[in-house]
Amino acid sequence: MSSDFLTGTDWQARGACGREDPELFFPIGDVGPALMQAEEAKAVCRLCPVVEPCLRWAMETREVHGIWGGTSESERRLLHRSAARAAVASATAGA
Ligand code: SF4
Repeated sequence: MSSDFLTGTDWQARGACGREDPELFFPIGDVGPALMQAEEAKAVCRLCPVVEPCLRWAMETREVHGIWGGTSESERRLLHRSAARAAVASATAGA
């Protein structure tokens, strides 16, 4: 993986969110209007050509705020927990 990937200077410039109001990707909370805002941001992500590197970056840097790679903060927390459980199961199976 290149250092450009980690600094975000390469893929971020190609993100579909570059044409949107940045505030859209940072809903406050996860109920009511904030939930609708998050869904609107995720709809942009679904059309984004760099959704995969974006999600990888958000997971690897443990970005806690905003919508990245089509996921919310709480969804990324779940992904981290699932990955941790899978790692434990894998280690246990190999022991
Ligand atoms: S996946 Fe979403 S947050 Fe990431 S660069 Fe694309 S539009 Fe922006």
